[in-house]
Amino acid sequence: MRHVLAKCIIILSLLLPALLLSAEEKELKVPKGGNLSTMLKNEGIPGQQILDVTKALSAHYNLKHIYPNQKILIKTEDDPEVRLMELRLSADFDKDIVVKYNGYAYESYPEMLSLRMVPVAAEGSIESSFYNDMSAAGVAGAKIMELFRIFSFDVDFQRDIRKGDKFKVLYYDFIKDDGTVVKHGPLAFASLKTNFSDVNLYGFVTDSNEYDYYSSEGKSVRKTLLKTPVANARISSTYGMRTNPVYGYESFHKGLDFAAPLNSPILASGSGTVELAGWFDIYGNCIILRHNNGYKTLYGHMNAYGKGIKKGVRVKQGQVIGYIGSTGMSTGPHLHYEVILNDVKINPASVKSPPERNLTKNEMERFTKRKAQIDELFENLKKKD
Ligand SMILES: [Zn+2]
Repeated sequence: MRHVLAKCIIILSLLLPALLLSAEEKELKVPKGGNLSTMLKNEGIPGQQILDVTKALSAHYNLKHIYPNQKILIKTEDDPEVRLMELRLSADFDKDIVVKYNGYAYESYPEMLSLRMVPVAAEGSIESSFYNDMSAAGVAGAKIMELFRIFSFDVDFQRDIRKGDKFKVLYYDFIKDDGTVVKHGPLAFASLKTNFSDVNLYGFVTDSNEYDYYSSEGKSVRKTLLKTPVANARISSTYGMRTNPVYGYESFHKGLDFAAPLNSPILASGSGTVELAGWFDIYGNCIILRHNNGYKTLYGHMNAYGKGIKKGVRVKQGQVIGYIGSTGMSTGPHLHYEVILNDVKINPASVKSPPERNLTKNEMERFTKRKAQIDELFENLKKKD
């Protein structure tokens, strides 16, 4: 018995150095406010190695740019003290920075990951919610949020979405050799059909290398509010302090006044729903429109309402909603116009319009080809399902 035990001890003692020498691989994630030196220290890496490794790494990566949840892979050996053999920092979705110990020093180099672009096509209808049903159809969460923002230019999510509304989505995933998705690429195509609108969007890179979304007709999707809701008007009073024209006291004017001849048409500055069409105190005959993304616009002192304009009616950007008048507290024919963002009256002149431009002839030709390719790709992918 004692003999057997002795044998075991001999075998163990022979194995022990080999066990100690075994390499260990570990994936670390940068904690909030964390830095690489502290992370390596916590892993038991000796101070001099930390200095050497961070110095080598700095040749290819600014360690000030390290961010929470960034992935860092380390390989260590016990030889006889801990030796950091390799460190791999995920610098971008398609690039790692590698630091390797070559036996006497650390060297570092960037390594491009070989990624495949795989199209993801999803199709379905809304049964419970936009998010849930898109998710169930296989659309990534981050993409759903992006779709929500882009569709918001045309779709009123509070009111327009009904059970049975149809959607289609196509985008690309970047996939590593081991099959993991490292990044969801931009949307190539998205479609949402409701009772109120049929929105089809195509991602397209312009000649000036800008990626944006365009309708089937090649029109930019991004629409904000019209700067001037009355044609041929002049601004007669701006947003800010002024002497009240009726009572003479100083007050803050929370809108823009556009002077124009009596009965000049007033246009809806954005698509939306009529929230109010009626007499409203000092504003006289007044219309309030509710738009997407928290915007409302108010039109005061009107002489008459546009055809069919009443509470609950949906209007399109540029549609005639009323005619210039001088009803309510007013000294002459003009439109008092307000922009309200999340229930706060803001300076209408401050509403930023993203650069919205039409595609050039050359871009339009490319867009038409691209659109046909995408439509075909989507059909083929859905046939495979
Ligand atoms: Zn005014």
